[in-house]
Parts: sequence; structure tokens; C-alpha cells
Amino acid sequence: MAPVIIIGAGLAGWTTAREFRKLDATTPLMLISADNADFYAKPSLSNALTQGRTPERLVTTPAAKMAEQQNLTLLAHTRVTAIDAQAHRISTSAGQFEYSRLVLATGAQPIRLPLDGDASAEVLAINSLADFARFHARLNGADPAHKKSVLIMGAGLIGCEFANDLAAAGHPVTVVDPSTGPISGLLPAAAGAQIRAALAGLGVVWHFGATVKAVNLVAGSDGLQVELSNGQRCGANIVLSAIGLRADIALAQAAGIACDRAILVDPYLQTSSPDIYALGDGAQYASAGSRALPFVMPIMTAAKALAATLAGQATELVFPLMPVGIKTPALPTVVAAPAPGTVGDWCQVEDGLWQFIDAAGLNRGFVLTGAQTARRMEQAKLVRP
Ligand code: FAD
Repeated sequence: MAPVIIIGAGLAGWTTAREFRKLDATTPLMLISADNADFYAKPSLSNALTQGRTPERLVTTPAAKMAEQQNLTLLAHTRVTAIDAQAHRISTSAGQFEYSRLVLATGAQPIRLPLDGDASAEVLAINSLADFARFHARLNGADPAHKKSVLIMGAGLIGCEFANDLAAAGHPVTVVDPSTGPISGLLPAAAGAQIRAALAGLGVVWHFGATVKAVNLVAGSDGLQVELSNGQRCGANIVLSAIGLRADIALAQAAGIACDRAILVDPYLQTSSPDIYALGDGAQYASAGSRALPFVMPIMTAAKALAATLAGQATELVFPLMPVGIKTPALPTVVAAPAPGTVGDWCQVEDGLWQFIDAAGLNRGFVLTGAQTARRMEQAKLVRP
């Protein structure tokens, strides 16, 4: 019998394998990944420095051990290049394989903006352990005692987490963003202002209402000069882009699988092709109003439902309320954002507590900052699904 094949060794791929094995110990299972497939928690990339964790120490279980535990055939360092949905066959850099069911857990890639300047290719982005290893090596360089300065493009959730981690580890940090405040897509302006002040307290320098236009080498040094859209110039040793991710849909699209911003999946996580499923950062879920949900909790929920379906028990994916903890220890923050397009307003209820009240007067989400984050469970119970 052809195996169930999972493409991708991120949280989505490995969690699906683990959940499937809890229900089915014998069906042949294969996991194929372009990277080395070591298991690590991606969220720890943006708080590793203050915890003194090197890239090597972030690996929680080496790939071979994971494969043994899940009783699966692992093809690491292997890229899937084509899917023949009709023939139930994939082509890879290590040959062709037939599948009974195929799971696309191929994630997303950092968005790269075209920038001017002779050092624009030096801009880094972090969405994998290998990316973090490159960043870590540049940050420490030949002289780890020299705290290199970092300019971060993007004041979203990931940009703010890196800003907090770097600043707390002693690095001069500048953040540039076209919006008016931190994490403006998710938080009420007043909560964003608290994060802005808390990180400024660690020395973070903010430039809002501006974007990075050009990155140039500074002659005779290892420094970079960054030119902003408002004409200002900033110096930095490293430029880190944290402007967002875009799902990797090329493989699916070439196979005729319906995609929008990501791979479209129905409430059973099936794509438009029979026996091909998708989840994780590369999926756009019907169960979430045709949205991508690039966070850990949705992956855990989706992997459980998909594993049951793959094991023969068709299981509809229903997402519970999934608050996200923002890892800014300077001001711990939790957000349960309303669904995009929900009409309503953020209302401050107490110091450090906001609720999103919709046009019908119903509570659709909340934000907690500082000590109020301890009330996450209590507030979650008040939100109307
Ligand atoms: P990925 O981890 O991107 O895995 C994709 C896999 O597919 C990789 O193994 C890749 O090699 C493989 N692949 C892709 N294409 C191919 C191909 N053609 N052939 C073979 N293999 C292929 N979420 C939270 O909920 N809380 C947090 O605090 C949080 N912090 C974060 C901090 C950072 C810095 C980042 C970047 C993300 C954070 N997230 C957080 C988001 C969360 O980590 C992601 O949603 C999740 O890890 C995505 O997992 P994934 O398996 O879908 O994708």
C-alpha cells in the first residue's frame, strides 16, 4: 500500500505525524522535507537571545529520533518538485513516490521587498532555524562582546518580539514601520502605545510612518547605512526584515490545486484535489472564514482533526478561541483578535484590559497587557464565538 506522505517538517508536518500515529500505528507514513527536519519550536526563535539559547540548543528532538518515535520513513534535505494528483505521485529531488493520501505542510516564506542600495542583499529574515543560525552568527561575529546594532523592518508581532529580545540582550535596536504604532493590525492604539513605551524603556528607537528605502555599505567598516522613505538615515550592523510571510503555493498551484493567498482547504482540510490535504502557515482555512492562521494553536487543532480524518474518522475542523501570547517580556501581552471585517470598536474596560465590542454589542475579542495577562482564561469565556 502506498504510504501517507507528509511534505514539510515544521510544526504542522511533525504534529500531524504524531497525532496520526496515536490513532494508527501501522499504515506506512513518509515525511519529506527540504530542510534537515530537526524538531524545534519556532516561537523560541524570537526569545532565544535573552534565554541564552544558541541555534543548536533550540533543537528539541533531532530528525532521526523523531522519525524513529513516529515509525516513519524520513527523507530530509529532499525537495518535492511536482505533484501528479491524478496518478497520486510526487516528484522529488530523491526520485518519485506514490502516495495514498498527501499532506501539504509546506509553510510560508518571508516577504522580500525590493530595496535600493549596494547592501540590500544583506537584509536578513528569520522564519527557520537555519535563518536564525545565520542571524546568530552575524550578531556574534568575530567579537561577541561588541553588541551589534540591529535595524528591524516591521513593528508587527514578530518585529516587536525580536526588538524586545535583542534590546534586552544589550543590542541597540531601531524599528521602522509605515503604520502609526506597534502591532497596529491586532491591537488597539492604546495597547500599542504601552508596548511602544515599554520597549523604548529598553532603548528601542522607533520610526513610524516610514519605510526602508535603501541599504548601503559604509566604506571602510562593517556597518550599514539605512535610508528611510522620510529622508532620515540610520546606521546599523544588521538589517532584519520582519514584514510578514507569504504562503508557499507554487507547488500546489502547478498541480492544479485551488489557491488564493494560501492553499484553500475545506472544513476537513481537504484541498480541491481528492486525497490531498493542507494545514499550517501554507493553508487558508474554510473553518476560519477563508483565512490563514499562522500560529501554533491553530496548527495543533488542525493536526488533530486531520490525523483523525486520515485514520478513517472524517473529522470536521472547528477552531476554538485561540488567544496569542506576544513574547514581549517588557510588557507581556495577550490578544484574541476579532475575525477580520468584524464591525465594532476596542473599548478599554480597565487598565490593561480591552474588549472588542461589535455593532450588536457583543464581545468579540480582548487584549490584556502586563499583570492583566493572568486573566486570559476568564476573558476567553466572555467572548462570543
Ligand atoms: P514551517 O515551519 O515553515 O514548515 C514548513 C516546512 O515545509 C519546512 O520543513 C520546509 O522545509 C518544508 N517545505 C516547504 N516546501 C517544501 C518542498 N517543496 N519540499 C519539501 N519540503 C518543503 N506562533 C504562535 O502561536 N506563538 C508564537 O509565540 C509565535 N512566535 C513566532 C516567532 C517567530 C520568529 C516566527 C517566525 C513564527 C512564530 N509563530 C508563533 C508562528 C508559528 O511558529 C508558525 O505558525 C508555525 O511554526 C508554522 O509551522 P508550519 O509547519 O506551518 O511551517
